[in-house]
Amino acid sequence: MVYLNRQRMTYPCKNCGKIYSYYSSLARHLKHECGVEPKIQCPLCPYRTKHKSSLNTHLNGRHMKFWNEIYSLPNGNKTSSMNAKN
Ligand SMILES: [Zn+2]
Ligand SMILES: [Zn+2]
Repeated sequence: MVYLNRQRMTYPCKNCGKIYSYYSSLARHLKHECGVEPKIQCPLCPYRTKHKSSLNTHLNGRHMKFWNEIYSLPNGNKTSSMNAKN
């Protein structure tokens, strides 16, 4: 016999084991978090993440130099810093 006691019922995620009190929360988790491909792509490398804050951390750590160069350029003119070898 199944009792639908909503207050005591929990909804564990089959994929990662996270437990939610509401089915809507689990549904949201499944739709937006669990098993969802990371949507935020680093513009500079193949790194991908689900969270914008993670991308910021990644950018600050890995591409700090790049951003510093971008922001230090007077008009964002990248070609001026290029060295033609031919
Ligand atoms: Zn999950
Ligand atoms: Zn990157």
